[in-house]
This record gives sequence, C-alpha cells and structure tokens, in this order.
Amino acid sequence: RTVYVNGDYLPETEARVSIFDRGFLMADGVYEVTSVLGAKLIDFDGHAVRLARSLSELDMKQPMSKEELLEVHRELVKRNEIDEGLVYLQITRGSDGDRDFVFPDPETTEPTVVMFTQSKPGLADSPAARKGAKVISIEDIRWGRRDIKTVQLLYPSMGKMMAKKAGCDDAWMVEDGFVTEGTSNNAYIVKGNKIITRALSNDILHGITRAAVLRLAREAQMQVEERNFTIEEAKEADEAFTTSASAFVMPVVEIDGVALGDGTPGKVAKRMREIYIEEMRKAAV
Ligand code: PMP
Repeated sequence: RTVYVNGDYLPETEARVSIFDRGFLMADGVYEVTSVLGAKLIDFDGHAVRLARSLSELDMKQPMSKEELLEVHRELVKRNEIDEGLVYLQITRGSDGDRDFVFPDPETTEPTVVMFTQSKPGLADSPAARKGAKVISIEDIRWGRRDIKTVQLLYPSMGKMMAKKAGCDDAWMVEDGFVTEGTSNNAYIVKGNKIITRALSNDILHGITRAAVLRLAREAQMQVEERNFTIEEAKEADEAFTTSASAFVMPVVEIDGVALGDGTPGKVAKRMREIYIEEMRKAAV
C-alpha cells in the first residue's frame, strides 16, 4: 500500500512518525473515515467540515485546505486502486520532541498528518447487512466531548470485544438509562414509520451518515424524531439500525438477546440502506 505522511506518498513500510508524537503518547489527535464506492468518495464534504470542527475544538491548526485534503484522498484511492473501501485520515498535534502535558507551541510544532486506504470489497452489497447485527448494551463511560472525533478509541474497542465475547457484533452504550450510540456508529430504533434517534449534543458523535440518512428519510416522507430512548424501548421497537461511514445503514436484529420483529433486518432499515447507497453514489466525488 501507498500511504501519505506529512506531504509524502510512501510505501507503508517506509512511513515514519516520531515516538514523541502526542497522538501516540496522549491520543491527542482527531480522525475521519470516508468511504469509497466505485472509486469515488462518499460525502467528502461532510467529513471535511467535521474535521475542521474537531481541530478547532481542540485548538489544533488546520494543516491543509479542504481542496488539498481531497486531492490526497483521490491520489491514494488511485494509487491503491480502491474500488470499494475507505480512506482513513488522522491529524495529531505532533510533538516538540519531548513528553509534556502542556501543548507544544503551535508556532513551531506542526501537526502530523497520516492517511491510508483500506480495500473493502462487498461494502455496498454486504453479507453482514443482509444478516443484520446483534448488539449488547454496555455502560457508556467515555469522556464528555464525544462530539469531537478523537483517536481515544480504547473504550469503544473494549465494547466491541465485550460484544464479541458475548457472540454479538457490536455494543450500544447507555448513559443515565438512555442509549447514546454504538461503539462506532449512531443508533436508531423504528416504530411503525417513525425513525427515532438521539438528538445531537456533546454526548454523541455528529455522524456524517446520520445527517444524510435523516435528510433522505425526511425527503422520503418518513417521520423522524430526535429524542432519547432506553434499551427497554429499543427491545420493544419494530426495528433498529445503526449508521456509520464504514457500514452505511446496518440493520440491528437483536438487542441483549431479544430479537426485534422476526429477527431479520427490518423494512425501514433495508429501505434506508438502499436509498442512502443509491443517493450517495450519485453525489460521490
Ligand atoms: N458514533 C461514533 C462513536 C463513531 O465512532 C462513529 C463513526 N466514526 C459514528 C458515530 C458514525 O459517524 P459517521 O457516520 O460520520 O461515520
């Protein structure tokens, strides 16, 4: 694979980052994942806008313009011949060559920019989506700024492992009795023709896929309700699903061992997955 590090395209084995980089020592960095369908980028603009916000919330410099970022994304897709897959982008605060809690001087310390691709054939026509996901619920013990897309992914990673150990695919996190989100996706339940998902706040990541799916649902005359819901309400819902840039709309068929409906992907989830993929393909860059 060819990867991108601080201005250079390199074979992955030759890419180098300092051991003092604050991304490595302190998870002081942010990231984005943009999916690729038909060798084109899905919702690149949305990801670029959220990246700028994450950087600004952490007082980090925007090291490259949106146009420059797009160019590197496209170049990596081309060089690595990605038809279906994703582009991962990470920007960390870099380092001034030592370890300190105090941020290094932004005048003299450049952020570290890393980008690489992952090929994922079957992203659109996904066997996992045809089957649907089984989720468990776990307590949400993450920090209070989940709206910033930082690389602090240890707890979500542990959540995935808990799910795996329980024979499931993912975990939904619960705080004060209400579902916040999945370990790497936003969470939804469906009652009749109504799609219910938690409203935006600092408690959840403002999913780029979420924004598109809610827009498309409204355009398709479906009802959307942005409010809190409990795991108990979710277990009694007609259907459930999650959204993320890397899995699009993923039907959820079981929560804590309780099957939803007949235990197969629901019709609203399937329809939203189809609409999302179709519309986003058309708008891909
Ligand atoms: N919530 C969390 C915690 C996530 O990690 C992600 C994916 N990175 C999402 C939601 C979905 O966001 P997006 O649709 O932008 O991928």
